[in-house]
Amino acid sequence: PSITRGITVEVPKVTWKDIGGLKDVKTKLEKAIEWPIKYPEAFSRLGITPVRGILLHGPPGCSKTTLAKAAANAANVPFFSLSGAELFSMYVGEGESLLREIFRKARIAGKSIIFFDEADVVAGKRGDSSSGSAAVGERLLSTLLTEMDGLEEAKGVLVLAATNRPYAIDAALMRPGRFDQILYVPPPDLEGRIEILNVHTRRMQLGSDVDLRRLAEDTEFFTGAELEGLCKEVGIVALRENMDATVVFDRHFQIVKNSLKPALTVDVID
Ligand code: ATP
Repeated sequence: PSITRGITVEVPKVTWKDIGGLKDVKTKLEKAIEWPIKYPEAFSRLGITPVRGILLHGPPGCSKTTLAKAAANAANVPFFSLSGAELFSMYVGEGESLLREIFRKARIAGKSIIFFDEADVVAGKRGDSSSGSAAVGERLLSTLLTEMDGLEEAKGVLVLAATNRPYAIDAALMRPGRFDQILYVPPPDLEGRIEILNVHTRRMQLGSDVDLRRLAEDTEFFTGAELEGLCKEVGIVALRENMDATVVFDRHFQIVKNSLKPALTVDVID
């Protein structure tokens, strides 16, 4: 439920199991997020400074948002979510106060995750006029920097940011104590695509001719979001054929797959 315009707070329901592939990314997030939250004593005993901020970057639709939610779920902490584009579009001063408000709420909550989507819109390089009105961006960025630095005393608040344009992020945010970890969330490889297809067909009854491995082989360059879309569409196609259908067959997958063209290209993947 939304508590203030632009801020939503929840302990997300999505779990690691709902995300296919990305084993490495999940493990890294687990270490950086779950461990300090679950075992703070062990961390202070060994003098380990927990990570304050993590930047997730990679092409759209490859589960950056879902990973952040699953991390909050695994750690069982509230999840504060806001979008850079939304902050940027607000009236003068409103974006900054919302940003301050969310950090304040997170500090009160204690252990929590702040997720900042489309971070480059707000955390873009200073003086980069391509990101729109430079003055608005700079004020938001300096508010963000102040708030992140202010987290020092507040224990257990982690900031996860997501962007498709990591090169556009201001270097000031990459200093130690701010976003000190950068994780690339790649498009799914073959095994990843098999797992994603498995996740999104879990609640479907598949005909014996459906071969998810072969389907994964045939969907190179598809993102997780596109594979999810494919699975949803398949059910509709089966219904269109027969309103009483309960099972989806390979032909339904083929019809949908052949009608789709992945948005990613080889360049993005390289
Ligand atoms: P954007 O950059 O556009 O915000 P994103 O990287 O944050 O995208 P998500 O919003 O997390 O991507 O994912 C979009 C949808 O695709 C979600 O509904 C999610 O279920 C699905 N999806 C993406 N990747 C995977 C995956 N690896 N496993 C299962 N589902 C996935």
